[in-house]
Amino acid sequence: MKLIDVSVPLDARLPTYPGNTPFSLEPVKRIAGGDSSNVSTLHMSAHTGTHVDAPRHFFDDGPGTEALPLDMLIGRTRVIEVASRTGVSAEDLSGVDLSADVRLLIKTRNSFLWSVPDFQRDYVGVTESGANHLVAHGVKVVGVDYLSVEQFKKAGAPAHHVLLGAGTIVIEGLDLRDVDPGVYDMYCLPLRVVGSDGAPARVVLRMS
Ligand SMILES: [Zn+2]
Repeated sequence: MKLIDVSVPLDARLPTYPGNTPFSLEPVKRIAGGDSSNVSTLHMSAHTGTHVDAPRHFFDDGPGTEALPLDMLIGRTRVIEVASRTGVSAEDLSGVDLSADVRLLIKTRNSFLWSVPDFQRDYVGVTESGANHLVAHGVKVVGVDYLSVEQFKKAGAPAHHVLLGAGTIVIEGLDLRDVDPGVYDMYCLPLRVVGSDGAPARVVLRMS
C-alpha cells in the first residue's frame, strides 16, 4: 500500500502564521535529568501546520472541530495543480471537472515554501470567485498547501466566509510537493478538540 504523508512535520522549523503561537516541544520531565520518564508539553496554535478549520473559526455560533464529520474527511479526493502565483480564481478552476468529486486538494507553488522556516506572505490563496466556484460545484472539502486558504490579509476574509459559511470543510497546511495531480483516497483525522476553531490533523493520501 503506497501512502503519501501530506502533513508537515511539527518542529521548530515550521513557519507560523503571524500572531499565532509558534510550535514548540517543551521538556517537562527528562530521564537525562534524573526523571523516571520523558514528558513534554506541546505549545501550538489550533491552526499549526497541517490542520482543519471548523466553522467556529469565522462564525461564533458555528460548530467546533469536534463536530467535523469524519466521513467527509475520508474518501476519494482529487488533487489538482494550479499555476497561479497570486490567487486561485474561478477562472483557474473552470477547466477542472468536479462532477465526480466532493474533495479537492489544490497544489500550488506554495508547497515549495515549506522549506523556508519564515512565514511567506506571498503564498497563493483562494480568491472569493474561486471559493464561490468550489461551493457552486459541490465541493465539500477543500485543501490548500500553505497556512491559510485566504490570500494574505485579504479584507473581509471572503474565502473563509464563503467556504465555512457553506459548510465546506477547509484543510490548510498540506505539503503536496510529492503528490502528482490525480485521484487518491484521503485520510484526514483532526484531533477531537472540543469547541475549537481549528485542530491539527494527520493527512495521508493513498493511491487509489
Ligand atoms: Zn486555519
